[in-house]
Amino acid sequence: MKGNKIQREMAEYRIERLFSLAKESLDPKSPMHGLGKRYIHIAEEISTHYRVRIPNSIRLYICRTCHNPLVPGISAKVRVVSDKGYVAYVCRCTAERHVFYK
Ligand SMILES: [Zn+2]
Repeated sequence: MKGNKIQREMAEYRIERLFSLAKESLDPKSPMHGLGKRYIHIAEEISTHYRVRIPNSIRLYICRTCHNPLVPGISAKVRVVSDKGYVAYVCRCTAERHVFYK
């Protein structure tokens, strides 16, 4: 079996850390500006290699099309579609992610 318990815990930690770095990289003043996609890509590779799921709290905030982090007000517009019961996160690449609350 690939990856023991400590390795998997380490992988989860690295995924969380990479996601927070990806969010920080959206700031134009940051020296890591523009590296968000790269950080998300590395996090996805770690998840595949160690067979660790990316937690829902992170997975919902990654664009499926362009793999950029979705941060409301910075890289995503947020809309509430109340009649259908979901919140729509619209990425810069125009892809939409629907998070249901009903
Ligand atoms: Zn996108």
